[in-house]
Amino acid sequence: MPKTRNAPPPKDYDKPPDENIPPIKNFKELKLDERIVAGIKDQGFVEPTKIQSMSLPYTLKGLDLVGQAQTGTGKTAAFLITIFEKLLKTKAESKTLPRALIVVPTRELAVQIEKEARALGAHTDLTVTAVFGGVDYKKQADRVRGGVDIVCGTPGRIIDYMKQGALKTKGIEILVIDEADRLFDMGFIKDLRFIMKGMPKYSTRQTLLFSATINFKVIEATYQYMKIPVEVSATPESITVDEVSQTLYHVEKRKKFRLLLGLVQRAEVDRLLIFSNTKNGVLMINERLAENGIKAFALTGDIPQRKRLRIIERFMDGEIKIVIATDVASRGLHIEEIGYVINYDLPQNPEDYIHRIGRTARAGKKGIAISVTSEDDVYFLEPIEELIGMKLPFIVADDGDLGREVEGRRKQKRPQKGRGRRDGRRK
Ligand code: ADP
Ligand code: MG
Repeated sequence: MPKTRNAPPPKDYDKPPDENIPPIKNFKELKLDERIVAGIKDQGFVEPTKIQSMSLPYTLKGLDLVGQAQTGTGKTAAFLITIFEKLLKTKAESKTLPRALIVVPTRELAVQIEKEARALGAHTDLTVTAVFGGVDYKKQADRVRGGVDIVCGTPGRIIDYMKQGALKTKGIEILVIDEADRLFDMGFIKDLRFIMKGMPKYSTRQTLLFSATINFKVIEATYQYMKIPVEVSATPESITVDEVSQTLYHVEKRKKFRLLLGLVQRAEVDRLLIFSNTKNGVLMINERLAENGIKAFALTGDIPQRKRLRIIERFMDGEIKIVIATDVASRGLHIEEIGYVINYDLPQNPEDYIHRIGRTARAGKKGIAISVTSEDDVYFLEPIEELIGMKLPFIVADDGDLGREVEGRRKQKRPQKGRGRRDGRRK
């Protein structure tokens, strides 16, 4: 992994945006330019799709974003609305330079996006053109040169025009990588790097990346050319929970950790993912597991992006066996084939439950999800059962389920300061 970005990162951009903006319920909330509103109406869009409602509140603020959602969920409109709004709000530096670039894997997609942009943007005077290999080399180049606001194209042709000087990137205010996973599958990694390097400095432009899956490869190749992005993932509600064997333990709060310890000790798996609702919960579990000789890694939202990615990579490689995460820290990261997930507490947001356990049953395999609940979080059970449409089979934990903690844990926790003097052990 190359260590540098295309420019030394200003400090602020190495911190993930910590704002948590709730998804919008309707387009109105966005207070879009009326010309865009008219385009949305023409298209017959009544309400935003899930990925649109999750991503637009961030992208319209100018933040970089990585958005994951299945095919056919309206990602195109999500980035087109963002582009339009941005371009309409500010004046172009030059009349002839393109201001937005959309990189896509295939010519069909380039044509399709061009069409959708023309329809959605029909009430604006913004112009769009598609560029792709195979045909019309000169015709397309002339169009780009002649002054167009939005260029949408395949990597090969974009690079040709960049090298040839037909496509000047100086004025690019927003870059979109669409269907990133397919771009990678089709071997466009190097091309994509070339394009990203040829853009204005990442800190001065907005970058959006959309993909049906976000895997480590995608992240590794692109994050160095972006500000630390917001990550949103619009996993459908109907995710394969059927393929997951789910169990719920009821346990008194004071025995909760020991139950977890027992579960971890008995779990015969290569990879175990533990979720806790809070960062403090994650850190506490990590510490107490360590005290009991079990090595795990904590994944919280305030761990620098690079470090988080490294942890995930090592987890996927099998070097790390146990990761403890918050929902925030794991969102948007493509952690797959876990097999075994433990919820140390029930999430307050029922959809997070599905996100958590949905990770176990990828690739047609059956997964195991065990949840632990006590008097604190049992209130979150009902909304979860409602959402998944079933009652979770439950077990009331007895002492046999609890793990045995290493002796002397309390002693080790004694404050370091003054040790040896006050306890009289020192001669
Ligand atoms: P994706 O890129 O996520 O695979 P598309 O952006 O191509 O999906 O969208 C799939 C279809 O959904 C398109 O026909 C598009 O016009 C339509 N669509 C997008 N947003 C909405 C919406 N808010 N309401 C209804 N239909 C929509
Ligand atoms: Mg798409």
